[in-house]
Amino acid sequence: MAMQWRGHGGPVGRPSPAINENPFDDVLEQVDRAAQVLGLKPAEVELLKHPKRQVIVSLPVQMDNGTIQIFTGYRVLHDNTRGPGKGGLRYHPDVDLDEVKALAAWMSWKCALVDVAFGGAKGGVTCDPTTMSQGELERLTRRYAAELFDELGPTRDIPAPDVGTNAQTMAWMMDTYSMKMGYVEPGVVTGKPIVLGGSLGREEATGRGIVVTTREALRDLKIPFEGVRIAIQGFGNVGSNAARLLATAGAKIVAVSDVRGGIYRADGFDVASLLLYRSEHGSIQGFPGSQPLTNDELLALECDVLIPAALEGQLHEGNVDAIRAKLVVEGANGPTTAEADEILRQRGIPVVPDIMANAGGVVVSYFEWVQDRYGYFWPAAEVNARLEEKMVSAYAALRAAIDRHDLVNDLRTAAYTVAMQRILEARRLRGLYA
Ligand code: NAD
Repeated sequence: MAMQWRGHGGPVGRPSPAINENPFDDVLEQVDRAAQVLGLKPAEVELLKHPKRQVIVSLPVQMDNGTIQIFTGYRVLHDNTRGPGKGGLRYHPDVDLDEVKALAAWMSWKCALVDVAFGGAKGGVTCDPTTMSQGELERLTRRYAAELFDELGPTRDIPAPDVGTNAQTMAWMMDTYSMKMGYVEPGVVTGKPIVLGGSLGREEATGRGIVVTTREALRDLKIPFEGVRIAIQGFGNVGSNAARLLATAGAKIVAVSDVRGGIYRADGFDVASLLLYRSEHGSIQGFPGSQPLTNDELLALECDVLIPAALEGQLHEGNVDAIRAKLVVEGANGPTTAEADEILRQRGIPVVPDIMANAGGVVVSYFEWVQDRYGYFWPAAEVNARLEEKMVSAYAALRAAIDRHDLVNDLRTAAYTVAMQRILEARRLRGLYA
């Protein structure tokens, strides 16, 4: 009997225009752009274009109907110059090596930008978790952890939840790793349930970081935060937590969507009631007082801030001209293709890049790992205060890079220059081994 997947956001999917995009090509373009600004020679950045390790595993899983299905799993360690690899584990039908490589590289930049002692990694399994039972997901996860046992570990590479996975997935990963080690090792994954060594504040950390970066960016644009009109694509962990915390901070969430479509309310949603409605009805559709709208209509909405918080490749050449927001804050990883990014730059619409905007998750993952290694846990207020401090100082480094390199509104290139410089500096100091 197939149970309903109880991830954050229900079924996952992506519109057709993004399917032909190779997100790793976007990574290469972004690296070249930042290298040019920094005046680096191509040879100096070449290594950053090549992940340190790419592993592909076949995962036989006994399905509930008695058959054995073979899934393909990936783990890419992009860079570990500044610390062990860090990055999520994604369960989605479109997962492939190029996507995982891109996501791993983005983790390297993100960890360097927020200055935590991690490198970048990512993993994934090509599967549709929405059609699998909890038992099938558990067996898949345990086999993934077992096959990648040699690659993972608190000093090697530390997974966390991503699209299609959640705290329960991390609990299975941690248990499998701990059973093989012969002792409990909570630091092998982050985003765990609190009782297993998870950190208070981790679940909502990415959303909380989005609030900080949106506030900082609006300040630069001289747009008051109070009453600012925000549209959010994707209502999973990132989108829904960002919506709730932004509304609490005084913003008006005028539109939200998930893979089935969106809803609009000119006066802004009562996000707490919307979350309650979704938990009772399994969907945001039909929320009282809302008008339905498509995902394309949401992206083209006239508003102050657009937050794409679903998947990569959502803002592309085909729809970017329709965007009317004054600011884009990237909640998802890689939601803007390189072509769309260039068009937004030309149109003067600033984009707070993913590696800055959604870095709150990895910051609190870092705190979780630190707490696990100490065996001593912090109160939520301390986690949140330290998160705020990290995000504000990363944003300040980005502002400084804009001034230093004369980059008008190009927050992405600024973020890349800061991150790449930190990694390259660490590389130079370590030197080339053997
Ligand atoms: P999730 O699975 O909890 O939610 C994804 C949401 O997007 C769901 O509401 C889903 O219905 C919706 N969606 C999927 N395809 C869509 C489409 N085509 N149009 C509109 N909505 C669509 O995932 P999440 O953890 O919220 O992650 C979302 C993004 O944020 C991913 O890019 C992920 O890599 C990134 N991210 C997540 C975290 C984290 O802490 N969870 C941290 C940093 C970055």
